[in-house]
Amino acid sequence: MPRNIALPHIEGLVSYEPGRPIEEVARELKLRPASIIKLASNENPLGPSPKAVAAMRRALATAHLYPDGGGFYLRQGLAKHLGVGADNIVLGNGSNELIEMLFHAFVAPGDEIVCGDRAFVVYKLCAAMFQARAVEVPFRDHTHDLEAMLAACNGRTKIVFVANPNNPTGTRVDNAAFCRFLDRVPNHTIIALDEAYYEFLDNPPDTLGYIIGKRAPNIIALRTFSKIVGLAGLRIGYGVAGKEMVGLLNKVRQPFNVNSIAQAGALASLADRAHITRTRRLNKQGLAYLSGEFRKMKLEFIPSVGNFICVRVGDGRAVFDALQRRGVIVRPLAGYRMPEWVRITVGTMPENRRFIRELKAVLK
Ligand SMILES: *Cc1c(COP(=O)(O)O)cnc(C)c1O
Repeated sequence: MPRNIALPHIEGLVSYEPGRPIEEVARELKLRPASIIKLASNENPLGPSPKAVAAMRRALATAHLYPDGGGFYLRQGLAKHLGVGADNIVLGNGSNELIEMLFHAFVAPGDEIVCGDRAFVVYKLCAAMFQARAVEVPFRDHTHDLEAMLAACNGRTKIVFVANPNNPTGTRVDNAAFCRFLDRVPNHTIIALDEAYYEFLDNPPDTLGYIIGKRAPNIIALRTFSKIVGLAGLRIGYGVAGKEMVGLLNKVRQPFNVNSIAQAGALASLADRAHITRTRRLNKQGLAYLSGEFRKMKLEFIPSVGNFICVRVGDGRAVFDALQRRGVIVRPLAGYRMPEWVRITVGTMPENRRFIRELKAVLK
């Protein structure tokens, strides 16, 4: 019955396929949860900052109260941390929610968005949900082809999405080319810069300086506490943009979209620079190790600047299945039209070694 009354374009949607949870794989394959490692969702293998955990414990005592809908203290903390105004920040239930909020505010049926054909899939999924056309521009050398994306923008283009670094390829765009691109996108188009892995970059582009300094009213940077900070389970991210854009997004934001535990954890995590430094160091070590092993195994891989890496294994689905039976969850990439590849999140060194051992066994 609900089928007949659903909107036709909703019936046709494909659900997002997340990395498989450990408990689910354990149930299905009758494995012990403790024997499984998940390298499938680019989470922080060190876990959350202990300071964040302590702050969240304290926040539990007032869980009967609604959260501060405006996220006052967290926005103040972020503003100080980032060197922007608190009114340049909008909080989201994960940066994924901010992506959806952009569609609510700016995209009508028949509008267009521009994104890369190997870019984060959520842009395309949202476009379908809002009956907009996603113009997918082919990647070049595994990364965004900014010139081609610019050429794909027209009078109907409402949002152009650039993920830098991109997921799943782990590639970045050149800083100078990036600034030239930002300068040339037309004013009627929102530029959504998805910077979920920004903190992993060496020599990152000065995105916020560009947005705030140039008073670029049509650009928003999307960041998250899910990746380097290690709070993916809390669902909290933020956008940094001009005041007008922040005001618009607040109009489409649900009143209590970010819960009080998440706000407390995120705020405390800002004070733990050591945790971020440790995470970056471990990630570099892991990337070097994995790349070296792939080289020895003569497997093609995409050099990554994120906390994950893509490797070409032949039949990606079969390798994913076989690894899963051995208790290692990775991510198949057929959904990104990369059926011969899998994506692996960089884990702790013991996890990385275990993955390589199991991969060797599976490929033998
Ligand atoms: C993980 C990821 C996000 C969002 O994560 P949230 O948990 O919703 O903050 C956004 N963009 C990219 C490219 C990602 O990989």
